[in-house]
Amino acid sequence: MYEPSVDPLRVIDAHVHTWTRDIISEKDLEARRIAAERDGTEPQLDSPIEALEAAMSDAGIERAVILPIDSGLNQDMPLSLKEKTDWHADEVMGNPDLLTFVGIDPRRGNEGLDELERAVKEKKCGGWKMYPPNGFYPDSEEFYPYYELCTELNVPVVIHQGFTSRFKHIKYGRPVYVDSVAVDFPELKIVLAHAGIPWVDEALTIASKNPNVFVDVSGWQIFAARSTDRIYSMIADARIFRVFPNRMLWGSDFPLFEQTMPLKRWKDFFTKLRIPDAILEKGHPQVSQDEIESVMWKNAARLFFGEKP
Ligand SMILES: [Zn+2]
Repeated sequence: MYEPSVDPLRVIDAHVHTWTRDIISEKDLEARRIAAERDGTEPQLDSPIEALEAAMSDAGIERAVILPIDSGLNQDMPLSLKEKTDWHADEVMGNPDLLTFVGIDPRRGNEGLDELERAVKEKKCGGWKMYPPNGFYPDSEEFYPYYELCTELNVPVVIHQGFTSRFKHIKYGRPVYVDSVAVDFPELKIVLAHAGIPWVDEALTIASKNPNVFVDVSGWQIFAARSTDRIYSMIADARIFRVFPNRMLWGSDFPLFEQTMPLKRWKDFFTKLRIPDAILEKGHPQVSQDEIESVMWKNAARLFFGEKP
């Protein structure tokens, strides 16, 4: 029987989204139309789980982490907080390769805390997705009970960072507002989404000093498609900051960048990534296959799926 000498590379997408137009707000739909008009593309009004599963299977991606967003304090949402948790928990029920988080705006206070606990304990949600551009700074001490609860439940928090859509507020997405949380909750695992684009140095600096902080590279398709040097130099910097390879997670933000670079191409880009000579000549080492595997799946397997690869 034929046996490949090297295991095929496994891949976990650490950052994806699913929704249908029935569960998001009119305002979010409008923001998608505005973005599509800017880009000259079709607006993404739906992202059903079937589309995710098909794209994953086509791209050879084994598992993915779905990150729902709670915009219920800013916008009229068709579903209540609990209904939205259940919608996401139910949709992944038949697929053990998909893990969903719970999206909660921490300004909800006790209601949100109860929901976080219910989502993790009863609905098998794998962590908390926080979306500061809805209007809050993550380091407010009034949110500390959420970090305590995540620590107690032993689940990570993924915090949206940097660029956002038309009706959200980017100032809340600066990585510097996560530093105190990382310091005060050393056991809590924190992921800075998008490696903080455009505040990448800030994100890497914060991850560098706090061993409990990770970055994901979802959204970096914008550079992979047009300005690859920015990715190579980010990885070189992340190595200096000791964030690459062990605290960097590959992700896509599916389906939001599909028209920039389809999932399969983005996966291939990163799995075959080689630092060009011009950067190596400055004294940076080449990336190894082992290091790429850490980013593509091993770090995520540890962080989200409790494995010990
Ligand atoms: Zn996202």
